[in-house]
This record gives sequence, structure tokens and C-alpha cells, in this order.
Amino acid sequence: MIELDKEMEREGYVISPPGSVEITDQNVEAQLCASYTCENCSHVGLRYRPFVEHHRQIYRAFAECPDCGWAMEV
Ligand SMILES: [Zn+2]
Repeated sequence: MIELDKEMEREGYVISPPGSVEITDQNVEAQLCASYTCENCSHVGLRYRPFVEHHRQIYRAFAECPDCGWAMEV
């Protein structure tokens, strides 16, 4: 099981929607994640998890499985 939050926290990221990305774009990403299937446990419907690294202004988004914690970058 991947502990996405801890892993990202260690790299300096916080869970946050980035100010530079439009709300509508985030909704589109969230809907995309909701249609994905987990490659680990085949659960359909992944959670959209946006992370921001404030020092370097880096934005990364992941689709995370609510069941097993498997995640992939989107
Ligand atoms: Zn899963």
C-alpha cells in the first residue's frame, strides 16, 4: 500500500488545489479520476488528490484508490 500523503509530505508537498489552475479544470480532473479503475484492486472510481509544493510552485495531481491507497499521477 502506497501512503501517498506521507510520501508527498516528505518531498515538501501539501494537499491543496493550486491557485494557478481553474476550478473548472480541477472539476474535469476530478471527474476523470472518478472514471479510472485501480490497477491494484480493480476498484472503479479514484479520488482526485492535488498537491502543491509552495517553494518551487510545483503542482502535481494524483488519482488515489479509496480502497487500497494505490495512486498514479494524472
Ligand atoms: Zn485499489
